[in-house]
Amino acid sequence: MTLAHGRPLRAIPGPSILPDRVLRAMHRAAPNIYEGPLIEMTAEVSRNLRRVARTDGHVAMYIGNGHAAWEGALVNVLEPGDLALVLVNGRFALGWSEMARALGIEVELLDCGTEAAADPARLEARLRADTDGRIRAVLTTQTDTSTSVNNDIAALGAAIRAAGHDALFMVDCIASLACARFEMDAWGVDVMVAGCQKGLMTPPGMSFAFANDRALARRQTMTRVSPYFDWLPRFHPAMYYQNFCGTAPTHHVYGLHEALTMILEEEGLENVWSRHEAMAQTVWSAVDVWGETGSIRLNVPDPAHRSVAVTTIQTGPGEAERLRRWCEDRAGVTLGLGLGMGGAKSPPGDSIFRIGHMGHLNPPMLLGTLATIDAGLKALGIPHGGGALRVASETMARVASA
Ligand SMILES: *Cc1c(COP(=O)(O)O)cnc(C)c1O
Repeated sequence: MTLAHGRPLRAIPGPSILPDRVLRAMHRAAPNIYEGPLIEMTAEVSRNLRRVARTDGHVAMYIGNGHAAWEGALVNVLEPGDLALVLVNGRFALGWSEMARALGIEVELLDCGTEAAADPARLEARLRADTDGRIRAVLTTQTDTSTSVNNDIAALGAAIRAAGHDALFMVDCIASLACARFEMDAWGVDVMVAGCQKGLMTPPGMSFAFANDRALARRQTMTRVSPYFDWLPRFHPAMYYQNFCGTAPTHHVYGLHEALTMILEEEGLENVWSRHEAMAQTVWSAVDVWGETGSIRLNVPDPAHRSVAVTTIQTGPGEAERLRRWCEDRAGVTLGLGLGMGGAKSPPGDSIFRIGHMGHLNPPMLLGTLATIDAGLKALGIPHGGGALRVASETMARVASA
């Protein structure tokens, strides 16, 4: 029997759950793109994006997914032949490095494994050894969505400054912006990329490259930049169409404006971060109990290295795949697929699943997901520790009263 006849729930690490308000804001006749509210609203979206990123710098808004912002960031500051050092703890940093390589950028990988954050001391040592300044940029993810490792961006930024190195610090926050604390200017991040469909709660289709003046100065020295991705007209558009190098993504602007209002004006960014922290701790506490018997375990052992937006969970062979099928078909909950994590010892995808807990999410949604997983484990006879729901509820109660 399937019980999947209520509202389906996606518990995947993006696209995340769409607030009805965001959808309603988008549901309208085509707006005037020459004058009127859309023009001012676009400027406000640009300002509010920079508030969420905690930067006084610049932002380029691309019509495209996260991969577009990856490319938009790379082509504005790195020439073919430049060397980029990439700190890898999962599939996504690796993906960004592959794109850099395809653009002719030389890439050196610093493999940080798939279960822990990058070590700032290793970064500092590598930069100190670069005595002739070959390394032009350091690339990494805040959260790697495949492994659910969260890097300490403040500490990595401090390591770059401690080494006295002038490489640009470029960070992928696609899975973490408006989920985990991030302070672009205070942490010394020169370039940051994000997408609209994760913490920003908007349907996929827009992405962003943020840059400070150091990164902009690097842009000014480039011999040639792909005109579509070029920051210069996008940072300071003389004409409205230059915001997007063509027609605006009209309805996305309305949706994103609503989402940013919810984040900044209503809940408040600090509260958004705290809520994600609370949801994440609830998830971790349940998984720890499931892991008391059988093969289930959190991919990232140290809580300080874990994402608050997504949790990667290992199981015995095939168990994750069966569980995902059961939750989807019998209960209407979509769990995140196990992605290859990019490491040498990475387990096969059918023994990994991920819970996305980013964006528009409250306790009934999250506890419902955990309870559904718990039912699935029982229905499928997958060995697991008992009492996870009681512990999850206790964790939720504790963090909610903090
Ligand atoms: C989702 C994600 C991407 C890719 O974004 P797309 O919109 O799928 O192109 C890149 N990096 C991270 C960390 C992500 O979570």
